[in-house]
Amino acid sequence: MASKIPALPQSYTPRTDSVFSDLSGFYSLDSNVPGLSKVILSQLSMKDYREYRAAVEGKAGGVVFHNYKEMFQKMEETFKFCTGCNKLPANLPEGQTLKRCVKCLNVYYCTKDCQKKDWPQHKKVCKILRLVAVDRLVEWLMFTGDLPLATEKWSKTPSDVRCWDDWLSMQEGLTQSLSNITSSANMTTLWKNVSRTRPDDDELRQSVWRIQSEFLSRVLAVGMAIQHFGLDPYDKPLIVHLVGVSHNETTGARPTDYDELSNMFPGHQGIEVVMVGPEVVDGPIVRPPLTAFGPKHKVYISAYKGLYHQFWEDVVEKGDAGKPDVVVGFHPGFHANQGLVEGWLPTLLLLRDYNIPSFFTMYSEMELKYSLQILLELEMHIRDSGPNPFASQKPEQVQACPNKPPVYCNSHYVCFQGLLPQEDLEEP
Ligand SMILES: [Zn+2]
Ligand SMILES: [Zn+2]
Repeated sequence: MASKIPALPQSYTPRTDSVFSDLSGFYSLDSNVPGLSKVILSQLSMKDYREYRAAVEGKAGGVVFHNYKEMFQKMEETFKFCTGCNKLPANLPEGQTLKRCVKCLNVYYCTKDCQKKDWPQHKKVCKILRLVAVDRLVEWLMFTGDLPLATEKWSKTPSDVRCWDDWLSMQEGLTQSLSNITSSANMTTLWKNVSRTRPDDDELRQSVWRIQSEFLSRVLAVGMAIQHFGLDPYDKPLIVHLVGVSHNETTGARPTDYDELSNMFPGHQGIEVVMVGPEVVDGPIVRPPLTAFGPKHKVYISAYKGLYHQFWEDVVEKGDAGKPDVVVGFHPGFHANQGLVEGWLPTLLLLRDYNIPSFFTMYSEMELKYSLQILLELEMHIRDSGPNPFASQKPEQVQACPNKPPVYCNSHYVCFQGLLPQEDLEEP
């Protein structure tokens, strides 16, 4: 292959009037919102799922929990600071403890006074933070293997499935599966070991659904990307590269995680998903990509730990992986300045200069807005963007600032391909 990696600018210094500048308040944005499972693992000082398993099973090396109670306590401790004045339990006067908001059971206060002062802000999110507090416990069922739930083959064509309601209408067994989870042994273990009463079954079913929807929203984003670019999985096998894959998406990942694509496109010619990112966690999906197309009607996942342009250079260019039909990324956080220059810029230039169909999701309209500005500065040809009808239904709390409005995984998307046509560029 004669092609080579697009050259990087020798020194990429953002202009002062660009969106990188402090003038637009760019630096003051939250760089990204890590999923709570990542927060939890990092607060428990664990690198990955394997360490988590070792700790739970009481094996040597690193943290050991003596029981589930201790584990859940440790998880909850990471949320214990005064939402009013940020005071930590260690900095309280002798004999004083943080008190939890009785409505959401999510945020803490050092004194009644701090709570009272904070209420005007907190009351706007208290109700939704109650859901977040339930979800962060129920999410544990992802670690135990109870979740994700099995789903059914699509009875409608993908173009007729436009939103969650359409998807739900094809899942006759879902209500039963959700109930099976609420009455499962692990759900019982969970509520026996946490310091709060068990919510009613309806509340728990909804929580399980929210967690399931977060998982599915990633797979459906890939399906949407395939459709947006008019790719036909019945015509030939497809290769999807997932770029900037995080800790979150690969912790405990299973080779079956993208099987919903086979429900979406039953009888397809084969779909290969290669997950690439510096935070890829070791596990069963960390295996070489396919060099020839894999089995028909199946989804094959592999993962590579590293930056995408390195993967391209070390693997794709050497013929050890196929070129992608489409590239998908979740919440890249382009607007985190350092992240862009050090991590994303070479990838974005590669995607642009190789004219690769690309589809990225964002946490919020704000993140989309800033990402669009960055992509336009790079003269990307943006094809489409907007709210994602298959956004995760699970609210994500900005952990350090619980009163910020929660965001949702994959809530918005942008798709782009190649360079902006010259006639669309402004006159100098
Ligand atoms: Zn306080
Ligand atoms: Zn509250």
